[in-house]
Amino acid sequence: MLDKILIANRGEIALRILRACKELGIKTVAAHSTVDRDLLHVRLADESVCIGPHPAAQSYLNIPAIISAAEITDAVAIHPGYGFLSENADFAEQVENSGFIFIGPTPETIRQMGDKIAAISFMKKMGMPCVPGSSEPINDHDTETIKLARSIGYPIIIKAAGGGGGRGMRVVHTESHLINAIALTRSEAKAAFNNDKVYIEKYLQNPRHIEIQIIGDGCGNAIYLGERDCSIQRRHQKIIEEAPAPGITPKQREEIGELCAEACRTMKYRGVGTMEFLYENEKFYFIEMNTRIQVEHPITEMITGIDLVVEQFRIAAGKKLSCAQKDVKIHGHAIECRINAEDPQTFTPSPGLISYFHAPGGPGIRVDSHIYGSYNVPPYYDSLIAKIIAYGDNRELAMARLRNALDETVIEGIRTNIPLHQDILRGNTFQKGMVNIHYLEKWMNM
Ligand code: ADP
Repeated sequence: MLDKILIANRGEIALRILRACKELGIKTVAAHSTVDRDLLHVRLADESVCIGPHPAAQSYLNIPAIISAAEITDAVAIHPGYGFLSENADFAEQVENSGFIFIGPTPETIRQMGDKIAAISFMKKMGMPCVPGSSEPINDHDTETIKLARSIGYPIIIKAAGGGGGRGMRVVHTESHLINAIALTRSEAKAAFNNDKVYIEKYLQNPRHIEIQIIGDGCGNAIYLGERDCSIQRRHQKIIEEAPAPGITPKQREEIGELCAEACRTMKYRGVGTMEFLYENEKFYFIEMNTRIQVEHPITEMITGIDLVVEQFRIAAGKKLSCAQKDVKIHGHAIECRINAEDPQTFTPSPGLISYFHAPGGPGIRVDSHIYGSYNVPPYYDSLIAKIIAYGDNRELAMARLRNALDETVIEGIRTNIPLHQDILRGNTFQKGMVNIHYLEKWMNM
């Protein structure tokens, strides 16, 4: 196994990674910013290194500082978590060129999948169903673009090739807005992702967001671990996820899962990854691939019994996948609520001192969180403070346990979106299952 690794992230995922290391006997280095000295994983790590001040650009996105921290601590590998540098091919390359193991795919894979146009083009070649759209970046020939959009049919969605985190997308309903909207999306994409390539897709009216978890060993072996339904979203950001996706049959799972695994075998995919799809009228449409561990990975762990972070370490250490496809069995149902430090009605961030925290418990409840009573949530980073995950033999039991867990949780001193989760889980539509990506926003506007 790896001797010592550096965790180049913060919050709940840094703690999740640290826990896996402790299980495996891997020594840990927490690389943190000045305001994050009191994070739980920093306190629990074998060593910690302050890599810079609170702005992420000077710490969690500061490549030389992170690599220097790995050097001075003699770490052998770097785990990027999710967000920050996790899908930055240049970072992965510099990590490897400096003699460390990057816990994730090769820089080439990250680069190819990070360009959504290149990713779609590869997947199409693999026979993957994709959303009707442009296979090339949109160019400056307005008449060509107008023609293309007409052939796809309105509404369409303009997307940034380098986009992520629900940003860099714009829906266009009529031709008169098209050219202007492309220019706007292009300039926003340039500013946000330093890449002004955009493409267009049919805007699906009532899809669900369903994604497939895969793992590959980097030598051409890959398996799929079923799907997750992440349709409860606000502004294209996931809020609740569940696995398996209600209504998906074993045959559908096998068909789409096998396509994903085959694509990973072809690219000799290394590590864990997710293929994201929209699902409408019983058809899957590939939209993008994430080449990292996802926020919502625990629900897959709950229904398969496979520890995805441990798998990441095994693969990074050059070991084989811990199981074959035939050994992957799905049992029960898991649902995750993302608890954010924000106002449940206005969604404005609510950082500050947590004066009191009581975590839920009981059978089937898992809490992935870095917070504790007297922890001060800094205003500078993502507002995710906890993930509450409920598991049960069936969806009803998982929902009942999750409702109890939300009711039991006490977080004082800051506001959280727990009341929103409680409302969603008590809503008839969610209880029936199979809601689409527009459900939450429509329901909130009621
Ligand atoms: P990001 O990388 O920013 O997460 P994605 O391509 O994964 O972007 O899309 C995020 C979300 O945006 C999807 O889950 C879905 O809600 C919405 N979306 C993306 N493409 C389409 C589309 N063609 N039609 C309808 N909704 C879409």
